Amino acid sequence: MPDPGTVLSRLTERLAPLERDLHRAFWTASTDASPKASAARQRAEEALLAVLGDAELFAEVKEALAGAGGPALTRRALEQASLDLLANQIPEGDRAELVALQAKVEHAFSTVRGRVGGRELANNELERILATSDDPAERRAAWEAGKQVGAAVADDVLALVELRNRVATERGYRDWFAFALAGGDIDEAWLERTLDGVELATREPFGAAKAELDARQSARFGVAADELSPWHYGDLFFQRYDGEGEADLGPLLEGADTVGLTVATYDGMGLETRHLLERSDLHPRPGKDQHAFCLDVDRAGDIRVLANLAPGEEWLDVLLHEVGHAVYDDHIDRSLPWLLRRPPQPLVTEAVALMLGRLRRDPEFLVGVLGAGEAAAAALNGPSREVLRTGQLVFARWCLVVVRFEQALYADPGGDLAGTWWDLVASLQGLRRPEGRTAPDWASKIHLAVAPVYYQSYLLGELLASQLDQAVRAHAGGFVGRPEAGAFLAERVFAPGATRPWRDLVASATGSPLGPAAFLAGLAA
Ligand SMILES: [Zn+2]
Repeated sequence: MPDPGTVLSRLTERLAPLERDLHRAFWTASTDASPKASAARQRAEEALLAVLGDAELFAEVKEALAGAGGPALTRRALEQASLDLLANQIPEGDRAELVALQAKVEHAFSTVRGRVGGRELANNELERILATSDDPAERRAAWEAGKQVGAAVADDVLALVELRNRVATERGYRDWFAFALAGGDIDEAWLERTLDGVELATREPFGAAKAELDARQSARFGVAADELSPWHYGDLFFQRYDGEGEADLGPLLEGADTVGLTVATYDGMGLETRHLLERSDLHPRPGKDQHAFCLDVDRAGDIRVLANLAPGEEWLDVLLHEVGHAVYDDHIDRSLPWLLRRPPQPLVTEAVALMLGRLRRDPEFLVGVLGAGEAAAAALNGPSREVLRTGQLVFARWCLVVVRFEQALYADPGGDLAGTWWDLVASLQGLRRPEGRTAPDWASKIHLAVAPVYYQSYLLGELLASQLDQAVRAHAGGFVGRPEAGAFLAERVFAPGATRPWRDLVASATGSPLGPAAFLAGLAA
């Protein structure tokens, strides 16, 4: 019987430096795309995955857990490690192929720019057109350009799906979807019930909000409501809703410094962010990943955010969100075993980040951080609530599309994927498939390639964000200018890291197990 403490130190010695090296290489490849950086990132990933995929190591961990010995924290760390190891029990040849294919697709997403006429446009520019242009032809060209990367990567994404499925079935799972949920400690039957519950409960309110939106878009573009196309909405996937007219934060954000607003927001909660932002890379430039993420490089304080800040509400939301991840990582108790110095499940950190991103519409934020006058803030209150509510409905329906699509993708990768995609988009988002469109639009969503079976974390994160928001408000009365809110989060949610399974952490921090009740109550209010 191997001693749990010895197994834990051996695991940590092998994993910690490799994870740090991978994160450094990933950061370099994301901030300065080049074949060399991409190759280095790939080598670093192979090295880490080789250890996580080590069958002997996995057997040793399971054996150590089978005995009754060892301190509770050590056992908990080994349990967490055994989930990671399970998720990575992939034969060496397959693993190398997975890593290479995934790096190739990531490189395409960093470098392929959509073409409009003779010009190549960055995603930010395409999104700006969809957010602001009144010219339907220009909107259509931008939307189509945003999907071009899908055609460029679809074959490689499908090869990834086939490979992932082979790995999963060889390990006795139905497909990669089932395998990934098991490794993420999410019960598939519970997830099914939750998805169905959210779908049913949001159907009517989403339909009503969408009908109002359609009436406005119809008048704006001079197109009959039943002839509106996907490019008549505000972004490439109809995943956001930022409101318009009387709800516009634009005048308040005019000339505002997104970074300064973010620092001020977190200062008000007693959460220091300057040292995190100093290490970050926040502004767009060629050869840089166009998305946004937060990376805890070494679980020892080297935490960085990547963003591509542009003026306006969207990137304020993104920065508040990513910095939410960063403060979470920053407050995890560093005296914990390395294996437990992380959120217990990605959905918990997603929930925190989503909840803090919502602050941009908090009435107290408008006054206390943006400096709006009382009258201006009062005028924005109703419209702001509506923006958040409609935004949550729009995002929830979009999440359902992606999760249901991934289920179908792994169940039958050879099926009519374009058809499945547009059926889901039609039934869940109420969007019309452009006539004759057969392009692999599904593949233009980067998550399917590089963060497979992750999207449920965003939806579950929304549910938990509402549940946590309720708990923080009950405890501290709100967020803005309330250090008690930051302290509540730091002590009850961040500091414990992964010392408890995510379900237990949620129940202890909020008083009840994760469910859609708070989220749905917020929509009804
Ligand atoms: Zn996030």
